[in-house]
Amino acid sequence: MIEDKNQSKTPLSELGEFGLIDHLTKNFKINHVSTIKGIGDDAAVLDLKNNQIVVTTDMLVEGVHFDLSYMPLKHLGYKAMIVNLSDVYAMNAEAKQVTVSIAVSNRFPLEALEELYSGIETAAKIYNVDVVGGDTTSSTTGLIISITAIGSVKTDEVAYRSGAKPNDLLVVSGDLGAAYMGLQVLEREKEVFKVNPQNQPDLENYTYIIERQLKPEARKDIVKLLKDLEVKPTSMIDISDGLSSEIMHLCKQSEVGCELYENKIPLDPQVISTCEEFNIDSTTVALNGGEDYELLFTISQQDFEKIKANPNLTVIGFIKEKSAGMHLITRAETSIPLKAQGWNSFSS
Ligand code: ADP
Ligand code: MG
Repeated sequence: MIEDKNQSKTPLSELGEFGLIDHLTKNFKINHVSTIKGIGDDAAVLDLKNNQIVVTTDMLVEGVHFDLSYMPLKHLGYKAMIVNLSDVYAMNAEAKQVTVSIAVSNRFPLEALEELYSGIETAAKIYNVDVVGGDTTSSTTGLIISITAIGSVKTDEVAYRSGAKPNDLLVVSGDLGAAYMGLQVLEREKEVFKVNPQNQPDLENYTYIIERQLKPEARKDIVKLLKDLEVKPTSMIDISDGLSSEIMHLCKQSEVGCELYENKIPLDPQVISTCEEFNIDSTTVALNGGEDYELLFTISQQDFEKIKANPNLTVIGFIKEKSAGMHLITRAETSIPLKAQGWNSFSS
């Protein structure tokens, strides 16, 4: 799609660096009063008043984090935003601004970057963040996109990884494992396509999991929900590498142990059926698959009544003393130590 040398495509050399920056950024509007100066000077100027500021960066590299043979550039732009916004929300903060930096080879025509930026713009609109700057440079081969997100939060509302206390409840938003199974389906279709390019994949049974892989969302709504319910999470982290490794991060930084119940882990029916088809254990996928971008947090037991009826939230375990260790209680009621396999080592 990008590789085809279509005559109607505009080479980047026609615009030059500054022309390209102007072209890509001309649609961005400033919505936040805290953005004093956006794109166009040597640096953006922000005024976030008396709040604490959270800053986070994630870089996505072609061939490492994404594969353009099944990832449309528009989705890539959107996802690059989500990955960063999710980290802001995981601090219980509100995202306000982002900067976007790209390195591109000349194999990408202008139209490809327009696609990428349309995804960025869509996410900026939906999540209400101002794009206030970035950098544009060339690369010899692939595409690299690095986004920095800036957010603000009241001092007493910041949720660190380190705040979990024994007896707190372990809570997760949404459901887990779908993005990983979506990737498995896309990888399989890519192999089928290599053998027979005429073959049109039928992906009807996989729409949810593929969407979770290609167009994930960040849980801005959960931060708001917790505020509305007057629940302050004692600790919080976003699930980018799999439930197991994120729970271990929380427990290690909070110096506590935990018990996680296998039968409580929220799974979408499509994850369960696709796991059966691929002959993979769905618990393993939820524990070690990545890129779900759900929020994992702990709350005091006193807050249970406030969250228990909410379909977006599931209590999956509770926090124990450090000496108790970190365990998964299986459906067969055996207790096994949690392991952090993480996303990268999962396939090996
Ligand atoms: P400088 O040479 O001072 O680094 P640039 O010419 O790189 O400035 O950038 C000019 C303006 O455009 C700055 O406000 C910068 O933040 C912004 N900018 C550059 N590249 C991008 C990009 N890819 N996306 C959004 N804003 C960008
Ligand atoms: Mg620059």
